[in-house]
Amino acid sequence: MRIETEAIHGGERVDTDNRSVTAAIYPSTIYRHHDDSGEPAGHVYTRASNPNRESLEELLTVLEHGKKTAAFSSGMAASTTVFQALEPGMHVIIPEDVYHGTRELITGLMKRWKLESSFVDMTDPDKIAGTVQDNTRLIWIETPSNPMLHITDIKKVCELASSSNIAVCVDNTWASPALQNPLNLGADLVMHSSTKYLSGHSDILSGAVITKQENELFSNIRAIQQNSGAVPSPNDCWLLQRSIKTLPYRMRGHCGNARRVATFLNEHPKVERVYYPGLESHSGHHIARSQMSDFGGMISFQVKGSGDDALKVTSAARLIANATSLGGVESIWEQRIRSEAEDTQTPPNLIRLSVGLEHPDDLIEDIDNALKKA
Ligand code: PLP
Repeated sequence: MRIETEAIHGGERVDTDNRSVTAAIYPSTIYRHHDDSGEPAGHVYTRASNPNRESLEELLTVLEHGKKTAAFSSGMAASTTVFQALEPGMHVIIPEDVYHGTRELITGLMKRWKLESSFVDMTDPDKIAGTVQDNTRLIWIETPSNPMLHITDIKKVCELASSSNIAVCVDNTWASPALQNPLNLGADLVMHSSTKYLSGHSDILSGAVITKQENELFSNIRAIQQNSGAVPSPNDCWLLQRSIKTLPYRMRGHCGNARRVATFLNEHPKVERVYYPGLESHSGHHIARSQMSDFGGMISFQVKGSGDDALKVTSAARLIANATSLGGVESIWEQRIRSEAEDTQTPPNLIRLSVGLEHPDDLIEDIDNALKKA
């Protein structure tokens, strides 16, 4: 089946009692045991499992071509769980330009877990190979990366990792399963902040980890999900599943609009540099073309001038909200450095733009007017 059909019908449960076409929400935290034996009849307690989470997990498994999924209450809960599924004392390789929250997790909480880490330039497989240690257990990939839109060759890194028995987890938040399926390229795990494109309306905080195989690593992930309890509510699972039904069509709109906006920005006299893998001038364009079906809805660009000029631009838009996060139907942008920690490498004059589903001509007009303030 094609993704448009899977997004609507994956994980679907037919309601035999009421024959409702739209799925029901199960707010109950508890489920009856068999009256005669006292044995569990299926679900027992909602932290461990519930019908809405089960259905969402099945849908994500189908979309990412995996075996199983564990859904979480945020992307960071999903990432934390992947790292905690490794033994203390193990070593992980992380992109040097990884999402700043993941960097803080690794250099903060996971340091207390005694996880060793190396931050490397993931666009260079030789540098990755040079960082592998005897205790390396995981390579983390984020492509396109946040906020510099670096592209990592997933297949190449997975080949390198499998020759050393190292697992690979890809943060697929920015591409979404509509554009990129890392498990098909050799990755072991896919992680999502489903707060972004999967949710698509900036109204659900959630995350997920999808596995290619039911192995020890995934049973650790499942155990942490169920026992530490950072799980999404049945209501959020239902809402997320509802949102995912339109994901493939939303992504087409995001990609089409972003292409128009990136081309416009690339020719604008007040713009110093545009980071968008759909531009042929982007250093990762050919790899992105080979592993993604389109280039996504995220653009970063540097305005000519200072950080203050970038801030003036983001404050001047009429349509585009000056806010953090991404992936919603509405366009948002921010002077990115303001959302990152002090050790960030992000240039002060860089604006990160999540291109929404408004008409591209209206967006371009809004951006053009805002750039006059720089
Ligand atoms: N990964 C990426 C690439 C992100 O952009 C984000 C959030 O912006 C996260 C992970 C964290 O997800 P959440 O905010 O849902 O915890």
